[in-house]
Amino acid sequence: MQQTFSQNEKVTLNKLQKKLRRETTKAIVNFNMIEEGDHVMCCLSGGKDSYTMLDILLNIQKYAPVNFKVTAVNLDQKQPGFPEHVLPDYLSRQQVDYLIVQKDTYSIVKEKIPEGKTTCSLCSRLRRGLLYRTATKINATKIALGHHREDILETLFLNMFHGGKLKAMPPKLISDDGKHIVIRPLAYCREKDIASYAALKNFPIIPCNLCGSQPKLQRQAIKKMLVEWDKRFPGRVDTMFRAVQNVVPSHLADTSLYEFKALQKTDTPFPDGDQAFDEQEFTAEFNTAESYSGDIIQTTTV
Ligand code: SF4
Repeated sequence: MQQTFSQNEKVTLNKLQKKLRRETTKAIVNFNMIEEGDHVMCCLSGGKDSYTMLDILLNIQKYAPVNFKVTAVNLDQKQPGFPEHVLPDYLSRQQVDYLIVQKDTYSIVKEKIPEGKTTCSLCSRLRRGLLYRTATKINATKIALGHHREDILETLFLNMFHGGKLKAMPPKLISDDGKHIVIRPLAYCREKDIASYAALKNFPIIPCNLCGSQPKLQRQAIKKMLVEWDKRFPGRVDTMFRAVQNVVPSHLADTSLYEFKALQKTDTPFPDGDQAFDEQEFTAEFNTAESYSGDIIQTTTV
């Protein structure tokens, strides 16, 4: 059935689509995600993110300077109550090539994981394995996942808080066996834009709690933290995402990334010098911030 929109909704939808398309194109170009002749396997879970990814990729496909093919793939993991008809109906209406792969990973997970324990990590590993196998079967050259900017930041904090690693979720990666390239075309897109777009487009969302698993509590806590920060300090999430793209190994402490041991004074300007903070910016902030009320204990005049 043809969707009808009010004039306001049309304007908002157009704006959002342009924005998402611009950000997705930027990510595709910056990471060389899609090349001439690629066959992109677009993984569709039935959630807002993957529907949006497919929709935007199909839109980009029409105008892109390179030719590429898209196949939507959904894994029916046999969770009780999974509405099997929803995705085939939607994909047929969109006239997209698609494949539904049926595999009862739900029973495997239930059998292996004791009641009450979180099932997501085994479930995700099984799903990832199936997706790789499917990509090989259909000769897909790229596997596209619908993770967005907030997913990347949440993973960064999860790894920092619980894994002791400064590591996020890359927009492009090679699988462990070296056989597949995974891309995340929505890497630059904001979750709230995706949510608004999905709502306006009225995608037939399939709920993600069918398996009955507890939500991933640590990720939920970090998501909440980011949302609260962004409310209290507007723009903070944007700044943090810029930081992920602007790494300075000489000002971290990983000896495998930077030759700290070999450092010698140069007596000439040194590009990796003491830029721990931008002094001008810091001074301006220092002079205006009410929170800087530290006492000067001792002053020395040289
Ligand atoms: S929420 Fe359920 S379906 Fe999703 S990863 Fe976890 S166990 Fe798997």
